[in-house]
Amino acid sequence: MPWKGELDPYKIWLSEIILQQTRVEQGWAYYEKFVKNYPTIFQLAKAKDEEVFKLWEGLGYYNRCRNLLHTARFIVKQYKGVFPQTYEALLALKGIGPYTAAAIASFAFNLPHAVVDGNVFRVFSRYYGISLPIDTSEGVKYFNQVADENLAIKTAGIYNQALMDFGATVCKPLAPLCSVCVLQKTCVAFATNQINLLPIKLKQIQKKKRQFDFFIFNFNEYYLIQKRGVEDIWAGLYQFYLVQNASMPKDNALYLKQVLQQQLGIAKKDLVQTSISKPVNQLLTHQQLTIRFIQVVLKSKPAALSKGLWVPKAKLRTYPFPKAIVDFLKQ
Ligand code: SF4
Repeated sequence: MPWKGELDPYKIWLSEIILQQTRVEQGWAYYEKFVKNYPTIFQLAKAKDEEVFKLWEGLGYYNRCRNLLHTARFIVKQYKGVFPQTYEALLALKGIGPYTAAAIASFAFNLPHAVVDGNVFRVFSRYYGISLPIDTSEGVKYFNQVADENLAIKTAGIYNQALMDFGATVCKPLAPLCSVCVLQKTCVAFATNQINLLPIKLKQIQKKKRQFDFFIFNFNEYYLIQKRGVEDIWAGLYQFYLVQNASMPKDNALYLKQVLQQQLGIAKKDLVQTSISKPVNQLLTHQQLTIRFIQVVLKSKPAALSKGLWVPKAKLRTYPFPKAIVDFLKQ
């Protein structure tokens, strides 16, 4: 974040309010304009309503601007312009919810409150393999509990910032850098190939559509197969290395790079050949699957593919596979 390390509660508050429902690239210019025109809370509190609304123009959600002015004037009048230094008092201010209160409390005053934004949801969901939807009250409550349990109490400000940065730069929504991630060895999503599936949103569940890509890794004519867990369809059967996606990746070249190089750490020089089959659809009672087979010929066995069995082609058919794979092997 551009304002990383900021300790002034006024500026942290300003940036958080401006960036709600706004992309960083767009919001950053507004933040700079506000800081330039109103460098302190006293100047903002004194400003005319129309002048502040004019500066806000284009950001939308004008209620945020109204609350911003109200709270600036309230802090000047009630607290002589000094931001309250407890989470509870911050939360009581108009326009400040649990997330913003935790951000100001921890970044400005190093108080032990976890900041749970979209990045944090994603990191915890993947690292612990939590499949509770993040857009339900049950999910939000649970993720907040997990965040509280993980919080570094004495260094909450730095910890919160680091976790959000980690989510924004390593455990990214698309193409997370698993191959260089320090958490890879203990990450549940990585171990169970659910990186592209987590975190889950309720909307996705209701669609019940799933996209499966089976990566057929071939090293010296030995093929990697893995046994499925018992908690999903095809319990206990075998499969090729599975990557699940919420929808079909649009750019195949980019997608292969993301999975093979960024997630699995396979060097380009170790990839002899890759090819992708046409998608096939399979309907199950409650699910609609779209399945592709991606053949990958390797020059060496990558460390990230140590889980499972490397089986010669002739022996493949001795293992029980789901019908989609059996059909593919018959071709
Ligand atoms: Fe995120 Fe990948 Fe690291 Fe797991 S291994 S925490 S999914 S970047």
